[in-house]
Amino acid sequence: MLFRAGSSHLGFVAGRYRNGAFSDRYTDVLRCAERTFTAYAPACSCGWRGPLFPATDAGHLRCRRVLVHQHLAQVTKECTPRPRPARRRVAVA
Ligand SMILES: [Zn+2]
Repeated sequence: MLFRAGSSHLGFVAGRYRNGAFSDRYTDVLRCAERTFTAYAPACSCGWRGPLFPATDAGHLRCRRVLVHQHLAQVTKECTPRPRPARRRVAVA
């Protein structure tokens, strides 16, 4: 499952393999064999990676929450244009 924010942030849940390496965004960690991963971590295509969580369904859910509510919310806020100043009314003669 992927989460997109803008054109440069594609979030996903990465699995940490037993050798310490992390899976890429093309790997659906929920479809991998049990005990393939020692932990899950929220991650993004920009290189950001969040804290580790247990490699369980609950850990996967927590990764998605951290990804959406921390990283993607932050980058979305940074990318959102500021509201335009209010228009001045022009008196019509
Ligand atoms: Zn990102």
